[in-house]
Amino acid sequence: MKVGIVGSGLVGATSAYAIMLRKAANEIVLIDVDEKRAIAEAADIQHAVPFAFETAVYAGSYDDLRDAKIVVIAAGASQKPGETRLNLMDRNASIFYDIISKVVKVAPNVIFLIATNPVDIITHISITIAKQFDVPASRIIGTGTTLDTARFRALLGKILGVDSQNVHAYVIGEHGDSEVLTWSNIDIGGVAFEDFIEFRNIGFNEKIKEEIDNGIRKAAYKIIQGKGSTYYGIGGAIAKLVDGINRDNRAVMTVSTFMEEVEGVKDVTLSLPHIIGGEGDLGVLPIRLNVKEKSLLKKSALIIRSKIDEYEKK
Ligand code: NAD
Repeated sequence: MKVGIVGSGLVGATSAYAIMLRKAANEIVLIDVDEKRAIAEAADIQHAVPFAFETAVYAGSYDDLRDAKIVVIAAGASQKPGETRLNLMDRNASIFYDIISKVVKVAPNVIFLIATNPVDIITHISITIAKQFDVPASRIIGTGTTLDTARFRALLGKILGVDSQNVHAYVIGEHGDSEVLTWSNIDIGGVAFEDFIEFRNIGFNEKIKEEIDNGIRKAAYKIIQGKGSTYYGIGGAIAKLVDGINRDNRAVMTVSTFMEEVEGVKDVTLSLPHIIGGEGDLGVLPIRLNVKEKSLLKKSALIIRSKIDEYEKK
């Protein structure tokens, strides 16, 4: 159960820490262009091992990723002064080409977990790159809306006064402003949302719904305002994905994957509920949506597709 993490900044290192705390891997290799950073993060995490589970955590090179089952990519180039979003995307694409080509050389059967933003577009680009090395799309998984789904469940759990692990609710589509909260299929311990609030006598109205919707959609902006970036939530999501793959847990998670068609939009990479197991993505689930949610999902898919087109036409 060897896991590589390429990009050992806040997201990469927090993921490694969460993986260690969950005992989701035996060996974690941290790689970063900033070698000092990777060495320091690995040492810091290794010092927490005696308080949790025996795991080898070390900074390494691509050679150390030999036969790794999973490689998380959280390497992020940030925008240079005066650089356009498209140029940044181009730069990130060549970084990803470099990373993917080096990883598949030593770990041809690896499953990639992509966290770098904009995650749906970067995952789409990575799928195109990986194809050149005969890596099928099913082995490139974007973290997508896993985090947004967790935020939705956490908030609903609090409002409904129930453990968020008993709340089944999804955020699908883009990991970003156009994401869709699927209110129509929420269930709490097998009880439909509408029945639950009536039975438990919970005051709920459109205004509260709107507040939750906004709270989820704008959650990252708020955190970034307060402390510069977000990393605990995504670290938790990545650890759960790694655990799901390494232990073949078959958890249902809203990951971003390549879809031939979503609501009439062709060749698009976005999030829907999938089963995550030993082979990575074991397939999408047929989520039930109402007319409004279908139309919002289509809108979200079109937004992602137009960003991919913008990049591909360049
Ligand atoms: P960070 O700046 O702390 O870390 C990025 C790291 O990548 C740096 O240490 C940098 O040296 C390294 N890096 C850059 N180019 C590299 C290369 N070619 N090879 C190896 N390492 C390289 O940033 P962060 O806060 O950790 O964020 C990382 C990415 O994750 C960003 O794109 C961010 O937007 C994204 N993110 C995604 C989610 C999500 O839900 N998907 C949530 C939070 C952050």
